[in-house]
Amino acid sequence: MIRIAADLDKCEGYANCVIAAPDIYDIDDDGKVVVSHATVDEDQRGTVSEAVRSCPASAIWLEEA
Ligand code: SF4
Repeated sequence: MIRIAADLDKCEGYANCVIAAPDIYDIDDDGKVVVSHATVDEDQRGTVSEAVRSCPASAIWLEEA
């Protein structure tokens, strides 16, 4: 299990994460990331890792759950 973590103070609303993993990340009306799933299964590691890599603000990361 992988925990999806986000720092809203760092998020700049680029939406790269939403493009990389639309099932996991969304953007709210204030332009801040919303994590749709607090945890994901191991088979999603590639997708969420790509989202983390794509974030220019380093606002999202993964934690082992
Ligand atoms: S890519 Fe990073 S800065 Fe952009 S919306 Fe996602 S978390 Fe926020």
